[in-house]
Amino acid sequence: METLAGTVLAGKSFDPIRGRVVVEDGQIEAVEETETASTDIVLPAFVNAHTHLGDSVAKDAAVGLSLEEAVVPPDSLKHRRLAAAGHDDLVSAMRRTLRFVARTGTVSCLDFRESGLAGARALREAAEPVAVDPFIFGSDDLSVLDVADGYGASGANDADFTAERAACRERGVPFAIHAGEPDATDIHPALDLDPDLLVHMVHAEREHLDRVAEQSVPIVACPRANSVLKVGRAPIRELLDHTTVALGTDNVMLNVPSMFREMAYTAREFEVSAREVLRMATTAGAEIAGLDCGVVEPGRRAALLVLDGDSDNLAGTTDVVEAVVRRATELDVKRVLV
Ligand SMILES: [Zn+2]
Repeated sequence: METLAGTVLAGKSFDPIRGRVVVEDGQIEAVEETETASTDIVLPAFVNAHTHLGDSVAKDAAVGLSLEEAVVPPDSLKHRRLAAAGHDDLVSAMRRTLRFVARTGTVSCLDFRESGLAGARALREAAEPVAVDPFIFGSDDLSVLDVADGYGASGANDADFTAERAACRERGVPFAIHAGEPDATDIHPALDLDPDLLVHMVHAEREHLDRVAEQSVPIVACPRANSVLKVGRAPIRELLDHTTVALGTDNVMLNVPSMFREMAYTAREFEVSAREVLRMATTAGAEIAGLDCGVVEPGRRAALLVLDGDSDNLAGTTDVVEAVVRRATELDVKRVLV
């Protein structure tokens, strides 16, 4: 048994309580209010709801490039770098990114993995010695579903994904698809596939949002990636008013996969509360992938993040949730329990 004491952001409301979290056999046994001298902050570990970890072979390659030039298959810089990378280099690069992801408080990434079955296998191999368990949305041939946890489609304008959608339904695994990134033309076609998850929705309009609510489709927003690629700003306030919204850092090529940075940017740039942002970075992604973490409450898996509330950066803050979302950085991480 182990206890983590301090200010605990407990339950789905993240209401701060002074007390401790009791952990046994990797599970949260109890959350208890009690006096403690600890200045630590205990919160759920993050779930990064959209990554492309394969981009770890193409870091810093995209400065000044458009969406098309940077990441669109098959001729973008990213895909040329991926094609040129040998297996060992790819695995090693993804593994190093995953180590960074783990050290910065993230327990899982929902990753869109390129390159079919071989691509999904390479990511499993990369993750083996790391404390992050990626949830893999595979691509290309349907055999990828033997290894991946679901299917991740590039976009409804790129190809007909009816067979992939049907195969996911047959196996009971999620079908996810990019939609509304450069423009709105692929949103209705994506929704026609009855997806389990939409990524981006930058150009979602009222008619799309109504369908999203009606079909109960969760959305992953990647605001920093949208900003780097200059595709516009997702209507995050409206998205939140219609469905579950999670945060993702998207292409490793474009952005460091740090949920601290994504949270701070989202809180600053959009009309959302700090609590909503924290939920987008933890609970929402866990719900989408069916992971038993993302909330500090008894019975859940103990995937927890401990921040030093008395660090030189966080000392003196009074609103804990605001401090975690807007101010905390990787340097404030004291411990990641996964
Ligand atoms: Zn993506």
